[in-house]
Amino acid sequence: MTNEWNARLLDTQRFTESLGHAKFHHGLHSLTRVQEACAEQQVTAAETVCDWSLSGETRGSGPRQQSWMLLEAALTLPQRCQRCLEPMTVDISVNRWFRFVEDEATALAEDDECEEDLLVTSVELNTIELLEDELLLAMPLIVSHGNCQPPASAALVDDLPHPFAALAGLKLPKT
Ligand SMILES: [Zn+2]
Repeated sequence: MTNEWNARLLDTQRFTESLGHAKFHHGLHSLTRVQEACAEQQVTAAETVCDWSLSGETRGSGPRQQSWMLLEAALTLPQRCQRCLEPMTVDISVNRWFRFVEDEATALAEDDECEEDLLVTSVELNTIELLEDELLLAMPLIVSHGNCQPPASAALVDDLPHPFAALAGLKLPKT
């Protein structure tokens, strides 16, 4: 069952109505935008793999039937701590529901009123792009151990007098 569905060309209606479930396994080299976002941290693409899955379901019945899809993903990225500059890993996980609507206009009209994310029904949805969007959103802005010390060289820089410290000694003219 695992590879019955094409992650790059997903027929969303067929997927949700058949209560589809698909598991995928993609190396970072397939997730180019995520890889680019990690470029500074010298991530080794070959050893970084994302396990992710899609699950479809329908809710309600008749004309009010809705199609939903759950995207779940987990990824451990090798990164570099921005404080001590030592290597570390960052666990990223995604767990997000999407509801399908029939067209872009409906998505725009309903987007403000609902908490869930909306997607337009498609016979060829590229869910890898969706995965990349969600992984990028889930990535921390600051990567740090949180309880580490800056390296000695950085500490020395911190000990230097603040460039504006001398200004404190200057007398400002009274107004
Ligand atoms: Zn650190």
